[in-house]
Amino acid sequence: MYDVWKNALEFIEQQISPANYSTWFEDTSILSSENGDIVIGVKNSFHVKQLRSRYVDLITKALENHNIKVNSIDFEIKTSHKPKIRSREITISSELLKNRIKNIKKTKDHTHHQTGLNSKYTLENFVIGSNNDLAVSAAKSIIDAPGTRFNPFFLYGGPGLGKTHLVQAIGNALLNKNPDLKILYTPISDFYSDFIDSVKLGKGKDFNLKFRKLDCLIIDDFQFIVGKEKSQEEFFNIFNDLYQLNKQIIITSDRLPSQIKSVDERLASRLTWAGAFDLQLPKFEDKCAILRAKAEAISAEIEPEAIEYIAENVNTNIRDLEGEFSTILLMSEVRGLTPLELINNGSISVNKTSRLKKVTPKQIVEKVAKYYNLTIKEMCGKSRVTHIKTARQITMFLLSKELSLSTNKIAAEVGVKDHTTVMHGIKKIENDLKLNFTLRDQIEEIKEKIYG
Ligand code: ADP
Ligand code: MG
Repeated sequence: MYDVWKNALEFIEQQISPANYSTWFEDTSILSSENGDIVIGVKNSFHVKQLRSRYVDLITKALENHNIKVNSIDFEIKTSHKPKIRSREITISSELLKNRIKNIKKTKDHTHHQTGLNSKYTLENFVIGSNNDLAVSAAKSIIDAPGTRFNPFFLYGGPGLGKTHLVQAIGNALLNKNPDLKILYTPISDFYSDFIDSVKLGKGKDFNLKFRKLDCLIIDDFQFIVGKEKSQEEFFNIFNDLYQLNKQIIITSDRLPSQIKSVDERLASRLTWAGAFDLQLPKFEDKCAILRAKAEAISAEIEPEAIEYIAENVNTNIRDLEGEFSTILLMSEVRGLTPLELINNGSISVNKTSRLKKVTPKQIVEKVAKYYNLTIKEMCGKSRVTHIKTARQITMFLLSKELSLSTNKIAAEVGVKDHTTVMHGIKKIENDLKLNFTLRDQIEEIKEKIYG
């Protein structure tokens, strides 16, 4: 039971202030747990009262997070069997006491090892779809056998597509399996500010140790390493040391390492030694599945048609999808109408819908041509020159993604004969987008021009 409580405490510590944590949870332990009736030992009757009135829910959540069945939670005063130490003894055995304090500090360190993980991110609440299935299967294999096949695990993709969620879920699952694992999740920005602090304070050694003792290091948003040369060097060293010891390394980024400016080439190639996995924009079915799962998780009532409406109209990312979903639910509560009623009476207009309606195929064709300094005639002609052909394919891609035009209609707009050429063109851009971040930026810029 000890490990379980240790983990539960870690969770609780993340949820409340340090002062509250140390007042109410220091020196607590689980005294018994039969059939989900959990008894927690605390210091005195005041603590019993306070914990009972304020913290039962949080404790329940913390335990359930670690798959412990909870029926009831109660508190009892722990009786201490330790003999009281008289003052004379203290002076005599001060050496002993020092050692004891050292030991306590050690265990405390271990107990409160800060993982940086947020237990709300799990694999169970990560919906698997065509946009992420490969990455998820790699994630599962890491949970089964960390530090082996997918090491390092490099996960990339645009904002709001689930990178943080997925890598934190791996961390949480590893910790669930083995609570003794030393796992650290840190955005790269925290990594370099910690590093700079440690250098300033002359604590480089502590910094070193903190990372080198890890079993699993999770670095989020690696693209922000740009321009931080010293930190990059330090990271490279840590990476190599952990890698040599077969410790699991997990990295997310919005682009491939080779597309991050000023990243050392050797580091860049090492980061993708075990391949690179990407998260893509969810398709309509994926979006519906995510929304259904979110609704189920909070027992919200929402009509399937309303879910489809949101899925169809939010084309940016999953974060925005969640945002629209929450807005509609909140509005439905406030107005006393169901989500579908709100949609039908026009109270809801998802941003992207109103945006889409204003744009015509012609405008998209014009904007792309202009962006690439081509005339429409040039772009929609027969030229096979690479940059012209690419512009044409980007137009096809945008007509399909932004306006959902059929391939036949797209063919007519861009002046190609048949729809298989269009299908090929769209596929080509979709594939290129995985690896080519410049292209991603360009398409974003073109969209800005189209809608801006
Ligand atoms: P990123 O780190 O790529 O910017 P996040 O991991 O923060 O994206 O994801 C944005 C939001 O979308 C989070 O609230 C996350 O829980 C949710 N989310 C992303 N992908 C999924 C998924 N497949 N299933 C459920 N929720 C998801
Ligand atoms: Mg993120």
